[in-house]
Amino acid sequence: MKKIEHIGIAVKDIQASNALFADLFGEESYKMETVESEGVSTSFFQVGPNKIELLEATNPDSPIAKFIEKKGEGIHHIAFEVDDIEAEIARLTEKGFKMIHTAPKKGADNKRIAFLHPKATNGVLIELCQEIKS
Ligand code: ZN
Repeated sequence: MKKIEHIGIAVKDIQASNALFADLFGEESYKMETVESEGVSTSFFQVGPNKIELLEATNPDSPIAKFIEKKGEGIHHIAFEVDDIEAEIARLTEKGFKMIHTAPKKGADNKRIAFLHPKATNGVLIELCQEIKS
């Protein structure tokens, strides 16, 4: 893995949280994107070299809706950038980590993504992401 690509924060109301985090960072969100297949609306902030992703559920069955129901709003996942997501999934599976996605999916922000099962990583939900080169 190369570096932390972003930190994901689950929120109930992305418009309200956009205003809140814009005030906090002194910087507006640079991108909003809905990923219907994942049931999420996302909003991205650049903070120096780091990115923060806000996530709001688009329907009651969304993983974000379930997360907020169980744990409330807050840090949802940490995403790590990788060069070759298939190779990284294979390496981690080989090491005995359980993947939620055994093959990459299309995520927000021009990325291919895969999540690890948080039970295998001390309760931390980890996302792998690889930039799609155009
Ligand atoms: Zn993410």
